[in-house]
Amino acid sequence: MQTDFLIVGAGVIGLTSAQALLSAGYRVTLVERGIVGQEASWAGGGILSPLCPWDYREAVTQLAQRGMGMFSEAAAMLQAATGIDPEYQRCGMLLLPPFQQERAAQWCAQHRLASQPVNLADHLPAQQGQEYQGKGLLLPEVATPATPATLILPAGWFQSGRFVEVFSDRKQVAKLLNLLEKGGDFDRGTIVVV
Ligand SMILES: Cc1cc2nc3c(=O)[nH]c(=O)nc-3n(C[C@H](O)[C@H](O)[C@H](O)COP(=O)(O)OP(=O)(O)OC[C@H]3O[C@@H](n4cnc5c(N)ncnc54)[C@H](O)[C@@H]3O)c2cc1C
Repeated sequence: MQTDFLIVGAGVIGLTSAQALLSAGYRVTLVERGIVGQEASWAGGGILSPLCPWDYREAVTQLAQRGMGMFSEAAAMLQAATGIDPEYQRCGMLLLPPFQQERAAQWCAQHRLASQPVNLADHLPAQQGQEYQGKGLLLPEVATPATPATLILPAGWFQSGRFVEVFSDRKQVAKLLNLLEKGGDFDRGTIVVV
């Protein structure tokens, strides 16, 4: 088989690299030893920002900001291609202490990133009756995509393209997409609500 690029590993890095190379007209072979997208890329919370961005070198900041700036368009392209909504949204990131408040505020101002000191008690639900104390820093522009929804079905029921009715607070119809896991007595796969 003729190929221009061999990519080992089908996580977010391998898949997006393959997609970019294919779009540029190259022939790509992608090998995966397990299930596509089920390692670190599945576990990731999807926060599109370093946790304390002021702790990184400027080169890292530039790379991260370039990547973050491409995400909205990439999410729309993925939805058009797959029918799965990556649920990209600017939900913000709330940083909890300890962090260097002054340095953080200075860094955000320098990099034109909105930031707002907030009372933690106003933003986090009390834990076992105890309210959070102190101040956190809200970065309202930080975005995140969501991990795709999955459904667990009795073993042998999963069939890609099959429609199932899902009852939660209301009835929804979902299309089964990809089988992710086969347990002893269950199948788990991704779905898209139609
Ligand atoms: C709990 C957790 C939370 C995280 N939260 C965030 C977050 O909020 N924001 C963020 O930006 N990042 C987060 N990350 C980090 C992020 O998930 C990873 O940086 C990213 O998913 C790495 O992608 P990857 O494609 O390099 O790796 P992976 O998704 O791990 O893909 C590598 C693939 O290579 C395959 N592979 C390995 N060796 C071979 C081989 N020899 N032959 C064939 N295939 C092979 C593996 O099976 C795997 O599928 C988090 C990570 C974890 C674990």
